[in-house]
Amino acid sequence: MFTRILTASLVLTALVFGQAAKLKEIKPGMNFFKKDQDIQMGKEYAQQIEQQYDVLAPGPLTDYINFLGQKIAQQPQAGGFPYVFKVVNDPTINAFALPGGPVFINSGILLNAENEGQLMGVVAHEVSHIALRHSTNQVSRSMLIQLPAMLAGAYGQAKGGLTGMLAQIGVGLGANGLLMKFSRGAEQQADLLGARMMAQVGYNPIEMARFFETLEAKSGRGKSGPDFFSSHPNPGNRSKYVSEEVTLLPQRDFKADTGRFEKMKLLAKNLPEPKKKAGAVPNQPEKNQDGSRTWTGENFQVSYPGEWLGLGEPKSPTVTIAPREVIKQEGNNVQIGLGVVIAHYEDEDGRFDFKADTQKLIQQVMQQNPTMGRTMPPINQHQINGRNVYVAKLTSKSSLDGGNEIDTIVTMEHRGTMLYMVFIAPERQMQQVQRDFDAILNSLRLD
Ligand SMILES: [Zn+2]
Repeated sequence: MFTRILTASLVLTALVFGQAAKLKEIKPGMNFFKKDQDIQMGKEYAQQIEQQYDVLAPGPLTDYINFLGQKIAQQPQAGGFPYVFKVVNDPTINAFALPGGPVFINSGILLNAENEGQLMGVVAHEVSHIALRHSTNQVSRSMLIQLPAMLAGAYGQAKGGLTGMLAQIGVGLGANGLLMKFSRGAEQQADLLGARMMAQVGYNPIEMARFFETLEAKSGRGKSGPDFFSSHPNPGNRSKYVSEEVTLLPQRDFKADTGRFEKMKLLAKNLPEPKKKAGAVPNQPEKNQDGSRTWTGENFQVSYPGEWLGLGEPKSPTVTIAPREVIKQEGNNVQIGLGVVIAHYEDEDGRFDFKADTQKLIQQVMQQNPTMGRTMPPINQHQINGRNVYVAKLTSKSSLDGGNEIDTIVTMEHRGTMLYMVFIAPERQMQQVQRDFDAILNSLRLD
């Protein structure tokens, strides 16, 4: 009896797998987060997004996207996350998926899509990132050492929730884009899994590949600013591998269409001006009498020119300060080609050794910036406001003018660990900003 059941189930397994034998298995990579931590994190970030962007209130457009989205969300490969689909009133071509379920689609996607299949392609692609847990996988891979200890320890007790804790180690939607910048491998996975789910609900996956290729062609001309491809890098050959995938799929009858696409596109076209611009200026501390502003971080204060912006969470261990006009926000990824970054550095072993830690920090910065070259710069010791500091100068390629960029790293001891400042400027503008940099450095107060 027992044997017979076993045999029957083996046959069944062979049938199921036999059919899909040629399809490559696509599954999530290593991850230190639990699935419910993905969900928790996504909810917390979604609140931030709702505050920052002009997310449309419930209405026909949101209903439409949600209707399409839920079709994909119900597919077994979507992993059963609590998916929520919303439309952002923003004509730039972008869409993003937060861990654990929230998907935001810019109205710009609708405006540029030619048919429902193309829109569905973006939806299926974003759902795949969530299902494959690419964001938290990316963070897990980048924080091999800090993250496990952190998640094991303070989770649940942290005041600012999971996102607050992640912000402490420099992970967020804004500052470094670590959560949102997918690898090319992840992009291809999201295309292929998205293609399968699209096909299952009756849409031709090739529309997704075609749409991405059209968008890529448009975005290269710098037309509409921050876009999809800064967080979703093009893996190349999309049409080719997606059409190959289609030949392996059991479903080839792609006739699904709600017939509502053109009407919805028109609604998107007639949306009012966005109420909040993407990347709205974060709240700044009041101006001081001399026109400067003072940022209060965790155990430090620093003043900066009144027309510059402080970017970060107040009272947190890190802040980025830069002139408004040089802040390049590509999707959720903020880049500065001129400005100052202040943060804490802690060595893996957790033991403080001022000079050795300074060297390790510089090595890491060099590794993260391929244009910096491989030669360790000289490290000089100075006194600033009675404090011992190390100073090192690095050169890289400027994102502002394509010339040289000078990155000056200043490190100092602070509460048994190391605080560092990186002063970033194109070589050609160094003279103009030197006074601002000096003022910022001299204003630093540690407590
Ligand atoms: Zn993507």
